[in-house]
Amino acid sequence: MHSCSVTQPTVHSATHTANHKAGQVFERALNKQDIKRYSRQLMLDSVEDEGQAKFARSHAVVIGLGGLGSLVARYLAGAGVGTLTLVDGDTVDISNLQRQVTYNEMHLGELKAKSLYNELRKVNSRLNIKFKSLYADSKNLPTLISTADCVLDCTDNIETRKHINTATLRASIPLFIAAASGLSWQALNLPQNNKRIGCYACLVEYIDVREDCLSRGVLGPVVGMAACHQATQALLFLAKGFNADIKWGHYLTGNADLGSLKSFMLPPSSTCEVCHDPN
Ligand SMILES: [Zn+2]
Repeated sequence: MHSCSVTQPTVHSATHTANHKAGQVFERALNKQDIKRYSRQLMLDSVEDEGQAKFARSHAVVIGLGGLGSLVARYLAGAGVGTLTLVDGDTVDISNLQRQVTYNEMHLGELKAKSLYNELRKVNSRLNIKFKSLYADSKNLPTLISTADCVLDCTDNIETRKHINTATLRASIPLFIAAASGLSWQALNLPQNNKRIGCYACLVEYIDVREDCLSRGVLGPVVGMAACHQATQALLFLAKGFNADIKWGHYLTGNADLGSLKSFMLPPSSTCEVCHDPN
């Protein structure tokens, strides 16, 4: 296993800059460099200074660094999420380059976690980025996610997804799931602390979950659509917590060919062995 980290993230600088908004002047906790770097998102009501400061204090764990995870991690790093843990035991293969846009021919044969770590350092050298070149499983997950504010499931197999679901549920850590195959993509935000909302194991009971792009094929940008949705939802949550205007427990399906979106609410299953509480 390889792991590494770079310098601690910038959180609050002593530098204060006056900002005019709604006729008022207030003191900013962000330094000039932060304000310039993040100016486009600081304008948003969904982020603002407070959300940006929360990004800097946040820890997101990205599990699976293929077409979903490599893009998700790039967006989280760009947005200034202070601590990122990148988890994947795989290496970069030439068949990955069709959709895993953060990698290129220079990375072939390299560990994805290390390659992505190196690329993200170039994006934002002030973040605390860690990488774990291993496959997530039931044994290592509790430690991997123990200090996470949220987990992003970017894996491509149901067994690992079940382990991630169980670990986040036990730790009450919000989980953002995405998948893509063929010309469709799916996403699900699970708070993992709400008994009125089911979990990933419930979903597998309800529907025929098939997420294998190896057998079904997938168009590169369709993976990107799923990843962009997933990263957006996680960022909105990290900025505003449970006050964020996002939908929890809705299983969302996007059809890239039709340009359509469908969703249904995921209730807990009374037979789910993971989340069902008989009491
Ligand atoms: Zn369940």
